Parts: sequence; structure tokens; C-alpha cells
Amino acid sequence: MSRGYNFSAGPAALPEEVLRRAQSELLEWNGARASVMEISHRGKDFMALAAESERDLRELLSIPSNYKVLFLQGGATQHFAQIPMNIASRTQSADYVVNGDWGEKAAKEAKPAVGVRIAATSQATNYDRIPPRESWDLDPNAAYFHYTPNETIRGVEFMDIPEVGNVPIVADMSSTILSRPIDVSRFGIIYAGAQKNIGAAGLVVLIIRDDLLARSPKDLPKIFSYAEQAAQDSMLNTPNTLGWYLASVVFKWLKEQGGVEAMAKRNRAKAELLYSYIDGSEFYTNPVDKSARSWMNVPFTLPREELDAVFLKESEAAGLLYLKGHRAVGGMRASIYNAIPIEGVQALVDFMKDFAKRNA
Ligand code: PMP
Repeated sequence: MSRGYNFSAGPAALPEEVLRRAQSELLEWNGARASVMEISHRGKDFMALAAESERDLRELLSIPSNYKVLFLQGGATQHFAQIPMNIASRTQSADYVVNGDWGEKAAKEAKPAVGVRIAATSQATNYDRIPPRESWDLDPNAAYFHYTPNETIRGVEFMDIPEVGNVPIVADMSSTILSRPIDVSRFGIIYAGAQKNIGAAGLVVLIIRDDLLARSPKDLPKIFSYAEQAAQDSMLNTPNTLGWYLASVVFKWLKEQGGVEAMAKRNRAKAELLYSYIDGSEFYTNPVDKSARSWMNVPFTLPREELDAVFLKESEAAGLLYLKGHRAVGGMRASIYNAIPIEGVQALVDFMKDFAKRNA
């Protein structure tokens, strides 16, 4: 077998133990005498899985009882649009703080459904930081406040939850959920595509406070309504059963690892290892303001662009995979989500040292 360390930004690495368990259960799952993909989502076996996965996620993130947990589809992108359809109207406005490409996309997709106000943006500095708090122009009457706690492309992460008064906070946590503990009670909605820290692409986890469910317009087509999805336990139609199953296996794995507190320790150590090497080297550069450097996505550039192709070829041969940076930034990007062990980051740093020595 030649599995390498996979630094893809998403779909991203899954824990090997999770893949092995899925492999061992593929033909026959849980005594169902069929695979989890081949049985009814309304049967007792799958319903039990759905309930248990929700319990596990609630436990992992200490989700308060006045929040519903939905297992949906459409990617985070669909929810860029679906969130304003549910909790706002065209006559209202919503505040967006934009610190990267995903926040920019979220604001654009929301426009047909709500008046979008860009309360602050760091576009002028190429999204290398969080817009300074004193520049935020917040509307106390906004229907909601939206931000992206971790910007996957630029590697810019909030280290705290913004204070925005009584306006409900909506957070796209696609690339940071479950990487550390969070205070869910500070949020109105948390949503995340699954393909980084939750499992496989095609599933979206959305955590929503009960009072916001009451905002879903009655004339919204049911399939778009969070209130309807909540009333039907995310089974308004056939859910992504395989994706849901994989998420359930990841949640069990996280619990075995010591939960999100343990992941936070591990993730902080991984990020510190990589950033401290980059900062100490004269060869590699990370462009992000030190106060906002992501624990999950670490972009870095080499001193000469023509070295990029050589770096990629040699790192791949060394089993360090998918390090090519996003075209918006260039260079490399190492995504070091929960499934990447510290040994993987150490192997990357060792390779980077050797490469720098040979190409300085
Ligand atoms: N938000 C963030 C922060 C992301 O990283 C991504 C995907 N990389 C998306 C949204 C879009 O997710 P999807 O492709 O699931 O719609």
C-alpha cells in the first residue's frame, strides 16, 4: 500500500482508522446483512445511526438543547443562499465581515435573498488578515451577522468569536469545525461542509438555534426550509446515507481521541511546528498576519516561482501529497486537519528543510 500524508484542502484526509472501519463494514453493516448504502434511511438501523451520530456531535461540541442539528446536502455553497432564504427577507439587511474568498462568495450568493452589507473586508490587503475591529461598520438591526471563522484558501483564522451585540451570528465553519472546542451558545447558525473535519463530501452539518427556525417563511418550498428539515429530523427526502454514516464513524473516532480538547492540543502543536519552521527559515514565507494564522490551512511560498514544480514533484515522490497552493495565492498550501498526525507535519518539515538546503 502506498498511502501518503495527504495535505489536500478538501475533500481532505480521513483518519486511517475511520477508513479501515468503513472498509470492514462495507459489505455488511451492523447486522443489517447489507451495506449501509443499501438500506432504507427510515429503517430502524439507519434511524439509530442518525440518532447516535447526533448525540455524539452534541457531546463533542457541547451543543445546548435549544439548538437543532441538521444533516443536509448541497455543500456549504448551497447554504450561502439558503440561510438568508430562511432567516431574513429581501426587505432586511445582513452584515458580512469578509476575510477571504469564501466569505466573499457567501455574500454574493446571499444577495438575491437579503440586502447584503459588507461591514468590513480585508480585500485591500489581499485577505492576509482579519479586518481590524475598529473598521467594522455593524448594523444593530441586521437580520444576522455572517463570517468565516477559517478561510481555507488564504489560511486566515479568527482566534475568538466576534462581539456583535444581539444580532445572531452565522458562521461558515467548513474548514475548522471540530478542530477545537467552541461555545455554540454564542452562535445563531453554525454550518459546515463535511469534506474536511467531518467526513466525505456531499453532507452538510448545520446547527441552528430554535428561535431562528421560527423565521423560516411558511411559503418557502419545503426542501429549502430548515424548519421543515428540523421537524422531519433531516429526512424530508432521502439523506446522504453514506456521508452520514462516515460522519458517525468520524465522531466515534474523535471521542476515542479525547474529543475536541485533545484535537485542539494536537492541532496547535502541529501548526506551531510548521509556522515556527517557516518563520525561522529564509527560504519559505507565510504571508498571513501572525494574529490570524490558521491552525488548519498553512499557505507558504518559495523564493522563486520556478521552484514550485520541482517542490511538488519531489514532495509527492516523498509521499507528501496535494501541497499545491490555491491559484489565488500561488506557492504551496499544507492543510493539516484533524486527520493529519503530527508525524505527517514533521515529515513535511523535514522535507522542506532538505529541499531548502538543496535549492538555496
Ligand atoms: N466555505 C469554506 C470555508 C470552504 O473551505 C469551502 C470549500 N473548500 C466552501 C465553503 C464551499 O464548500 P462546498 O464545496 O461544500 O460548497
